This record gives sequence, C-alpha cells and structure tokens, in this order.
Amino acid sequence: MPDDECAARKDTMGGKILDGKTLAGSIEKTILARINELKKRGAASAPVLATILVGDDPASATYVKMKGNACARTGMESRKILLPETTTTGELMAAIVSLNDDPAVHGILLQHPVPSHINERQCFDAIALDKDVDGVTSLGFGRMSMGEKAFGSATPAGIMRIIDHYGIEIEGKNAVVVGRSPILGKPMAMMLLNRNATVTVCHSRTKELPEIIRGADIVVGAVGRPKFIKGEWIRDGAVLIDAGYHPEQKCGDIDLDNAAEKCGAYTPVPGGVGPMTIASLMLHTLEAFEKAAARVNP
Ligand code: NAP
Repeated sequence: MPDDECAARKDTMGGKILDGKTLAGSIEKTILARINELKKRGAASAPVLATILVGDDPASATYVKMKGNACARTGMESRKILLPETTTTGELMAAIVSLNDDPAVHGILLQHPVPSHINERQCFDAIALDKDVDGVTSLGFGRMSMGEKAFGSATPAGIMRIIDHYGIEIEGKNAVVVGRSPILGKPMAMMLLNRNATVTVCHSRTKELPEIIRGADIVVGAVGRPKFIKGEWIRDGAVLIDAGYHPEQKCGDIDLDNAAEKCGAYTPVPGGVGPMTIASLMLHTLEAFEKAAARVNP
C-alpha cells in the first residue's frame, strides 16, 4: 500500500495517533540547534557516533545507513566501521576496545544481529559504559534497572519519550510487554516498572496470552511477527505501542487494522517507534559528547 494511502487509512481509525516521526523530527532540530550553539561557543569538534557493521546483511546495512543520515541531519559525524562476515569475536572486541580508547569517538553502536559465530553478548559488554549510547551493555542495563544513570536501550528509551510527550499516564497502569529480548522487551519492562506500572512480560512459552493482553492498559508489541497481537485481544481504550516493523507487509507486531478503532492511542507503523529509536540514539550521543567535554574542561 502506498504511504499516502496508508496515512489516509490511519486518519479514519479511532485511537489517537502517537506520531513518532514528527516528534523525532522536532528532537533532531533541537539537537542540531544545540550542536550549532556549541560550535559557536568554540567547541573544537562535533559529537562522533561510531557504527560497526559486521557482514553484509542488507537490512542491517540499511539501519546503519539510516543512523549515519541522522548524524548528518543533526550536525554530528558518523564513523562507519565495516567488518567482514568472517570477523571473529576477538577481532570485533579489539575493534570496540580501540574505539573505547579513542577520545574523538563519543558513542559506539554495534549493529545487531552480528553473524552467529560471534559472541554478541561478549562484544556488547566490551563497549565502554560512557560510550554505550545504544544501551546494550549488561552494566548499562543493570544500572538503568536500578534507577541509576545510564543510557537506556535506544528503542525502549524512544518509546518512553513518545509516552511522556503525549502525557500518557504510566503509574498504576497494567502494562504488558510481549517479547523479552535484551535490547527491547527486558529494558522496556524495567523502564515501565521504574515508572510504577504493574508490568507483565510475555514470551514464547507464555500461556493464555490473549487473556493477559485483555487486562492491559498499555501493550507493547516486541515479538518480531507481523500482526501477531490480534485486535480482539485489545481492551477498549488501551494504549498500543508497536515496536515491530515488517517492511514487506508494511505493518508491525500488532494488528492495527483491527485494534486501532477501539484503542485509546497507538503508534503507527511506519512512523511510530522506528524514528524515535534513532532520535534517542542521537540524543544519547550528544549527551555522551557533553559529558566527555565536561570531563576535559570541568
Ligand atoms: P527477538 O530478539 O527475536 O525477540 C522476540 C521476542 O518475542 C522473544 O522474547 C520471544 O520469546 C518473543 N516471542 C516469539 N514468539 C512468541 C510468541 N508466540 N508469543 C509470545 N512471545 C513470543 O526480537 P527483538 O530484537 O526484540 O525485536 C522484536 C521486534 O521489534 C522485531 O519486529 C524487530 O524488528 C523490532 N525492533 C524494532 C526496532 C526499532 O528501532 N523500531 C528496534 C529493535 C527491534 P522467547 O524469548 O521465549 O524466545
């Protein structure tokens, strides 16, 4: 379906649209203005985000390119490290350590997933906490979960920004997160828990998923299966956050065709969570740059 037709269809649906694309655009403008101001005040460099892509998976290459484009839009620099499919865990860790040690680099993003022969967790955990702008390290996850300072994982952090921007209440609400991956479902659950939601995390072994979702005020779809969460499972007025993206079907993990009419609000796909993931990554990189500058010139 063409994008404009898709947008027209969304306008006729009942729930309020949580427009991540517009919000991300305004966050990017704020970042650009902040970087221009820092340059005027004599900052010697712009924030630098290093992206590491291992192998030649076309989808991953597109995601890395989108992040590079966002750097250009916001006045940052991206440094692209491309490694062959045959890269070993040791070689990838060495590349990460050298970026950790490089004061000109402020953020490091290791594009997920890496080829299956690489120990991804070990490589994520090699990223220095100060440069973990994508929020993938175990240490960063632990600190975020304990309510301490750390960059949260970019996708759930972007989701929290959408929720807050639209003034959606979290405290005391029943939130159901479907998916428990380390980069999405788990950190999402901890962020909602830290804001006093009552959180249920569902996964592939969960029994009676429809019943659990029927009790949810907030549903987060983080499954990776097109339209997996059905419209008839959704309670009237629920807030639907769809983190899934399936480009071929132009849909996410929630069957919005049948859920959007009765829900209270929903993130469209595309144009909801995806752009906010990138905006959060850019914001985190700017913060990492500012913190590094403060350490040099306290
Ligand atoms: P993932 O690592 O594959 O995790 C999928 C999760 O879904 C797992 O926890 C799995 O449970 C659960 N699951 C699978 N089948 C299920 C079932 N039948 N019932 C209930 N739960 C089930 O995926 P991910 O990386 O978290 O990504 C999830 C989705 O978000 C994908 O569509 C991805 O493209 C999207 N995503 C979007 C962004 C963005 O920037 N917008 C960023 C990251 C991911 P088990 O743990 O039991 O296997």
